[in-house]
Amino acid sequence: MSRLFSIILSVLFITNVALADRMVGHPTPLQNELLENPVTLNCGAVVREVRGSSQNYAQLNDLCTHAYSNFFQYIEAKGLRVSHHNTFNWNISFLPEATCYRCLNDEKFRFNNRFVGGAVIGYTSRNDHWAFITSAHDSEFRVTFVHEMFHSMSMFYGVYDGHPGSWSQKTNADEELAAEFTEWLGYGR
Ligand SMILES: [Zn+2]
Repeated sequence: MSRLFSIILSVLFITNVALADRMVGHPTPLQNELLENPVTLNCGAVVREVRGSSQNYAQLNDLCTHAYSNFFQYIEAKGLRVSHHNTFNWNISFLPEATCYRCLNDEKFRFNNRFVGGAVIGYTSRNDHWAFITSAHDSEFRVTFVHEMFHSMSMFYGVYDGHPGSWSQKTNADEELAAEFTEWLGYGR
């Protein structure tokens, strides 16, 4: 074994030991991150993880119900179609916005495979059936939450998949719709 190779091996070994307790990937909550009692909102979405600021469930209920009760009318008005009418079902994690380990912008570990790069305040994963949203209750919270619930409903009801083009083009189309939707509901965009 060459000296260089052996040095590289030791460096890899040390790195692996240092990171042994850090999970790479796995955007959805680990077992110990799940709420002991998940909270099902009236719209059908289920809050399964809350870290950082605590949440106002009455407000979340109102916002999600407002979004859900206007979703189908909006989709129809845009000339788009849903693929089914099953009861809405989606998962939500509220996370600190920072880049710390397992936080919303932990692109090194938890979200190393995130489709959208850069700092986000909300991110909805089609494949995981999950919305990851900042837990900070700033002035933008309502629009952020309703925006991600729009993506969640769009993905759940096949609207997102129905957008023409590549995954990037579908994402861009859904982004525009979500911004218009929150504006239409009076939250701004
Ligand atoms: Zn968006």
